[in-house]
Amino acid sequence: MADIFERLLSNQGPIGQHRERAHGYFAFPKLEGEIGTRMFFRGKEKIVWSLNNYLGLANHPEVRAADAKAAADYGLASPMGARMMSGNTNYHEQLEKELSDYMGKEDTCLLNYGYQGVMSTIDAICTRRDVIVYDAECHASIIDGLRLHQGHRYVFKHNDIEDCEKQLKRATEMIKTSGGGILVVTEGVFGMAGDQGKLKEIAALKEKFDFRLLVDDAHGFGTLGKTGAGTGEEQGIQDKIDLLFNTFAKSGASIGAFISGDKAIIDYLRYNLRSQIFAKSVPLPLVIGHLKRVELMRKHPEMKAKLWENALKLQNGLKEKGFDIGKTDSVVTPVYMKGGVEEATAMVMDLRENYNIFCSIVVYPVIPKGHIIYRLIPTAVHTDEDIELTLKAFEETKEKLDAGSYKAEAIPDMAEA
Ligand code: PMP
Repeated sequence: MADIFERLLSNQGPIGQHRERAHGYFAFPKLEGEIGTRMFFRGKEKIVWSLNNYLGLANHPEVRAADAKAAADYGLASPMGARMMSGNTNYHEQLEKELSDYMGKEDTCLLNYGYQGVMSTIDAICTRRDVIVYDAECHASIIDGLRLHQGHRYVFKHNDIEDCEKQLKRATEMIKTSGGGILVVTEGVFGMAGDQGKLKEIAALKEKFDFRLLVDDAHGFGTLGKTGAGTGEEQGIQDKIDLLFNTFAKSGASIGAFISGDKAIIDYLRYNLRSQIFAKSVPLPLVIGHLKRVELMRKHPEMKAKLWENALKLQNGLKEKGFDIGKTDSVVTPVYMKGGVEEATAMVMDLRENYNIFCSIVVYPVIPKGHIIYRLIPTAVHTDEDIELTLKAFEETKEKLDAGSYKAEAIPDMAEA
């Protein structure tokens, strides 16, 4: 017999095991001040590259005014209850109409959180007879949706179309006996490496196989496509995506998400998405704030143009200085380096304390031992000065990394006193 709590305390999990040393610095840091490219960390101003505020909407004056007015007009409680019971309003429906129009889909269902929304969509549309074929690097919300799925699931190597086709063949065989169907799930932009999902190639497989395609375009919404409608628009196959998921948590600089598709299927989801039926509706101030964000995204393509101008300045600057930024073809900018966890930690601290650059790192066990990924998220509001100072800091700290200067440093205890 084991006491559950004792077991938890003896094994705190892959990230939790570092909690005591990391809390407040590497994990749960507090960025203070107005959201922007300069914020305060432990009382000192930093250039921030960690926020998915792609278009700079978080602090756009019209967004701030719309959010504040809606909160004053309605309060955060309104409407009470789930949409289905008592939590529906004209604003919710208006937002769904505008999003459908923007996405080029017949209908849209709002989701109170993206994470639950993705999980719940997979749960609502698949039975144990169906087979799910999915990309190996799909986001946790998709993986957790798969955990709810009681039928078969076949993973294909990341963005590997040959392997995707192989898994589709297996799935096609499987459903001959199970009598189910096939759902393919992938992403528009993979948030770590920044590479676009091969949606065009996957959609082309519809000629050979019968399946429905669900795309999570969390990072493509607002950043890709002529009008910002996302990766499907960018690759010219928006109409081939059967269910298109987007969140307001990134370009939208808010909370909430939505799923778009054919009217009959979205109507089905409205009545079958457990995460929405059994949870409170998105509060009105958020819905009204979303309407303003969508209006600005559509009216001001120059925000996306500026985002790309900044992203390319950063990415080209890094490449010119000899950095490996991998296969990104989105604004997400990973910088790949080699080194141990201790070196990565010492370098991040040097960047943060001596160069005032705040960025996120990914190390073992998320990626293989000996590799370090610095993940930079450019936004439309970064300045040339932000970019230049960051490039200089990366150049200098990489020289130190290559010279082995960070090796000697043990991971210091950075937890808050
Ligand atoms: N999918 C992807 C690819 C994400 O990056 C995220 C995280 N924002 C989600 C889904 C979950 O969205 P939300 O933050 O709205 O719950």
